[in-house]
Amino acid sequence: MQTLESLLKKGTTILKDNGLEEAGLDAWLLLEFKTGKNRAYYFAHGDEPVSDETAAEYLTLIDRRAGHIPVQQLTHQAFFMGYEFYVNENVLIPRQDTETLVEEALKHLGDVEKPEILDMCTGSGCILLSLLLERQDACGTGVDVSPEALEVAKKNASILKVENRADFVESDLFSAPYFCEKGGKDSGKYDILISNPPYIPDYEYETLMTEVKEHEPKTALVAEDNGYFFYKKIIDEGKNYLVSGGVVLFEAGYNQAQN
Ligand code: GLN
Repeated sequence: MQTLESLLKKGTTILKDNGLEEAGLDAWLLLEFKTGKNRAYYFAHGDEPVSDETAAEYLTLIDRRAGHIPVQQLTHQAFFMGYEFYVNENVLIPRQDTETLVEEALKHLGDVEKPEILDMCTGSGCILLSLLLERQDACGTGVDVSPEALEVAKKNASILKVENRADFVESDLFSAPYFCEKGGKDSGKYDILISNPPYIPDYEYETLMTEVKEHEPKTALVAEDNGYFFYKKIIDEGKNYLVSGGVVLFEAGYNQAQN
């Protein structure tokens, strides 16, 4: 029978042999997920036997990871701003870099009471929902063109218990009637428009890691016009939906911000 330790070794070896850079870490995260044992428990009880069934399930996860499926898609968990989000293959996995954008938004919202937030291309909802969790007086709208992504965002809103302060709208940017009816009042409605839109130019797509290229939605990553399509559209149309003095905040590619 396998023990916690022998399984972790086996998982690590399989992932290393398949060329995964973070083999040890990934093997551990999947073992923690499958057995529910934390690091401290593992160090004290590494020789504890693991049932054949759990071992087999673990090794199935290891095989899938060896096929470059991201760990977060295997566990359906991603951590962002200290909160846990459900994720699947229909949404971009929240990136730690994007937390900077949320922190920046929180600074801007500092003295705005009951802020209204518009999150364009919401995906998993990680940006909007963490803002709503950080600002209990805020309300917001999350927009995405993908109904499958919106399912994930709604599920997260409900798990994180902010569903009564979040609206989700299926829309290709501002094209849905919702924006004429609700968002685009004469004076504008939102204090902040925030977005981490797709921004990777076509020609860079091929250079991405297999995990990203083959397992995350391409529509959440790639943008026409050398990656600038969404920025231009959102800046152009978004101002109609902002209160006076409202701000637009974007995440941009490492070489895009100056333009
Ligand atoms: N807003 C989501 C995130 O930052 C999804 C972004 C996207 O799909 N481009 O993770």
